[in-house]
Amino acid sequence: MQNILVSACLLGERVRYDGLVLPVSNRLIDALKQMAGVIPFCPEVAGGLPVPRLSSEISGGDGNLVLDRKAIVNDIKGNDVTSFFIAGAEKALETSIKNNIRAAILKEKSPSCGSAFIYDGTFTKTLKTGRGVTSALLENNGIHVFNEMDIEDALAFFETIKQQ
Ligand code: SF4
Repeated sequence: MQNILVSACLLGERVRYDGLVLPVSNRLIDALKQMAGVIPFCPEVAGGLPVPRLSSEISGGDGNLVLDRKAIVNDIKGNDVTSFFIAGAEKALETSIKNNIRAAILKEKSPSCGSAFIYDGTFTKTLKTGRGVTSALLENNGIHVFNEMDIEDALAFFETIKQQ
């Protein structure tokens, strides 16, 4: 059975910046039962940030530019928290390699986990296209990142790799 890395907040763990616990989607749970061994992971907590914590956004780019040290992650008070985000992304990659993971389902819009959209760094709830830091590092290392709305695509991917 293949393992899959899943954002811990999608599985009801209290890891979000605001300390809230998200309701767990039955659709996600049903899909995960068909797919794989589930490894819950929160890159921001793994990178050393507490719960709750200040909200953070990528400023001046996306996760790829943060990894290239050409953009930074700021919290809402203006503190540079880039090193925590990079440490969390590196731990997510380490965990994925150790567990032979080829795909992840990560929470959309997060500065760590987003795979299609992230907030634009202005803290005005404005989205832009781009990946979060962990999502970018995983994809750059051949690990497919789906979001919680892409479950059908994630299932199809698992069907394909089962047959390999
Ligand atoms: Fe942690 Fe990612 Fe969920 Fe944010 S979106 S709480 S970083 S798992």
